[in-house]
This record gives sequence, C-alpha cells and structure tokens, in this order.
Amino acid sequence: MALEDYRTDMEMCCRCSICKFVPLEKLTEKRHSYVCPSIARYNFHTYSGGGRTSMGLALLDEELEYDEKLLEVVYNCQMCGACDMSCKYAMDIEVLEPINEIRIKCVEGGHTVPALDGIISSLRNQATMVPGAKAKRGDWAAGLDVKDITKQQAGVIYHAGCRVCYDQDLRQVATNTIELLKKAGIDVGIAGENEICCGGRAYQMGYKEDFLNQAKKYMEIIRKSGAKTLVTGCADCYHAFKVPYDKFGLKGDLEVMHATEYLARLIEEGKLKPTKKVDIKVTYHDPCHLGRLGEPYIHWEGNPVPGHIRIFDPPKEFRRGTYGVYEPPRDVLKSIPGLKLVEMDRVKEYAWCCGAGGGVRESNPDFAKWTARERISEAESTGADAIVTACSGCEQNFKETIDECGSSLKVYDVVELLARAI
Ligand code: SF4
Ligand code: SF4
Repeated sequence: MALEDYRTDMEMCCRCSICKFVPLEKLTEKRHSYVCPSIARYNFHTYSGGGRTSMGLALLDEELEYDEKLLEVVYNCQMCGACDMSCKYAMDIEVLEPINEIRIKCVEGGHTVPALDGIISSLRNQATMVPGAKAKRGDWAAGLDVKDITKQQAGVIYHAGCRVCYDQDLRQVATNTIELLKKAGIDVGIAGENEICCGGRAYQMGYKEDFLNQAKKYMEIIRKSGAKTLVTGCADCYHAFKVPYDKFGLKGDLEVMHATEYLARLIEEGKLKPTKKVDIKVTYHDPCHLGRLGEPYIHWEGNPVPGHIRIFDPPKEFRRGTYGVYEPPRDVLKSIPGLKLVEMDRVKEYAWCCGAGGGVRESNPDFAKWTARERISEAESTGADAIVTACSGCEQNFKETIDECGSSLKVYDVVELLARAI
C-alpha cells in the first residue's frame, strides 16, 4: 500500500475533530477528554489525525513542500493510533495507516529528521534501536540457565527487545518472565547475543525498507530455531511481530503472544499460583501497541462497488481496537492476592499514550515527557500507589518523567508484581 491507496479515506475526512477526543459516549471526565497528545499539546488542527490526513492529500496533490515545518508536524506524533480509534467510532475510514504512509513517503524522498539518524544508524550497524555494543545484548540472561535457541530447539522463543537488553533498570521484566515460564515447565529459549531488533519502531518512523530487512532477518532466526511461539514483554515488539510482520506476509504461522497473555493463561491453567500477598493499589496503563493497536491484522483485497467510492466488494473490515489485548494484563493483576486495581478515565481503545512512541522520545523528548506527565497526573487522580504497564518503553518514559517531576507514584511492569506474588 502507498499513500495514494488511502486517497478516498483521506477525502472522507469531514473535519469533525472527533479524532482529537475520547468519543462522547465513552467520556467519563472532562479534564481527560483529549485522546490525541499532539493536538492537546500543539492546539492547531494540522497536529491531529484529521489534520494529518488533509496534509496527506495536499502532499499527493503536490500542494505542499517537504520543508522543516512539515517534518516537524509529521514527527510530533506518537503513532499511538488513538485518533484512528476515535474516528472509527463513527466512520469507516483509515487514519493511522495514511499517517504512517506520509512518513514512509518522507523517508523515501530523503526528507528525514536529523534527530532520528542516530537510532537508524544504530539499527543498520548494530541491529538495535538503542546505541550500544551488540556483544552485550544477551547479558541480561547471565546466570538464568535458559536454552540458547541458536544451538538448541525450544517450543517457545522469548524476545527481550532492545530497551530491555541495554537498560539495567528494565531487565527485571525479562528475567522474571523466564523464571516464571521455567517454573511452569515451559520449554523456552532465547537468542541471547544473536537476538536482533524486531524493526517495529523503524516502521513507525517511516523507514519501511529498514523494517523489512530487519523482519526478514528475524524470521530466519525463528525458522532455524524451530520455535512455534514467540513471547515478548515489550508492547512495541509484540505489535511488530503480530501486525506489520503479518501485513507484509512475513509472520507465517508463528504464534505471537505478549508475556501477560501467556502468563494469564498459565495462571488460569493452574500452572502458576500467585499466593503471596502484594499489598498495593495500582492503576493499569494500556500500552498503545498492546491494546488498541495489538489486534490482529486483517488481510483484505477488493474493490469499490461500481458507482460507489466507499462500498467495497467484498465488504471491508476495519480494525477498531476491539480485539486488542486489554484483559490478560488486568487478569494477571487481579490474580495477585492483596493487590487492588483501579482504572483511569482513559482506558483500552481510548487510553492516553505514554508519550514515547513513534520516535518522539528521540526527536522531541520534551513532548514525550509532557505526554507522560499528563498520564502520571491521571494515574495520581485515581489514588493509586503505582502505575503498572506491560511495555518497557512506557515504563522507561514514566520512570524518567517521574524522576524529573518528583511524583511519588511508583512504576512497575505487570510481570514484576506477579513474580513477587509467586
Ligand atoms: S479523521 Fe475522522 S474524526 Fe478526525 S476530523 Fe477526519 S473524519 Fe473527523
Ligand atoms: S497517532 Fe496519536 S499522536 Fe498521532 S495524530 Fe493520532 S492520536 Fe495524535
């Protein structure tokens, strides 16, 4: 698909601005009515989902130049998909897909943002989105006695993800997951030093060719390992393996599961039993790429019915976030004795982004932290002691922002709390 393929979607935009907000019927609190961080921060229509589709049309019709201002608008967006969900509450049009295609068109035309050069060169030279020595990628698993899937067969491959491999503060989610899986008798292995970046963040940033190179290399590792299931604790990676890998015909029959889905299933089957009390009141933050964007990709091929531009044969199905991963992380939390779960105003399809996605953490860290502060304040309004998430990117951005703003809120991953209970 290319930007041109979304012309009628973009033409259908009626500038109603629903994509800026939580749909009215789902709204619980006026101060938490915005769903798009970009429009909430910059307060000019172009910074919204609808504004970006207008921009896409203008680019197609060569009415806009690829100047610095255009790139500033294009990249001050977390690719969180909230606009897409809110628009689809009322309309059958794609919003996030053309936003992604605008980025791809920018990159293919050589119009890139210098602030993103570092992570792209790191991906090309070291197969990671986090600059760092590749030789240290597997260090997080030292002493865990886990199979190396490049040397031994295993039914399940655990993918740690770039951030977890290189940030000591985030490693616990990976070590805890491996320990829990082994305790439940799961035949799990890792690629260790040979693990590479899934490429998902590159795709969100518009670097489609880099993503495809990375995805092809990753699927070769999987094919050689013989693993049938991939488990990851990172929402970004989960989305990459599950959605764009499938979109480009690379996923095959690989089963992709987030760690919280796999662990919730083990708890339900009685293979893991949380028995120790964890006395804490928490609120759960739905990561965009696990929640609304984590639902399966829908393959569709068809054409508009003659005489209509938006009635398709066969009928077109739209991803509305309904089948995202919302309950498994909550089920894991609810299984922990002593833990009380309270909800924020913006949840599931309409959850507010942590702020780090789409390259914003790298290109505009101030905006990334501003967005996180909004979420931290929403979490504080629930009276919770901690904000719990299921993505290393969210965890990292929340922790860094809390260090700066001085909130007393704690940040945990779901797996970390489960490990305490077992
Ligand atoms: S993208 Fe959708 S919700 Fe936003 S202005 Fe256009 S039609 Fe309205
Ligand atoms: S993807 Fe997120 S940040 Fe970007 S326009 Fe849509 S809601 Fe706003």
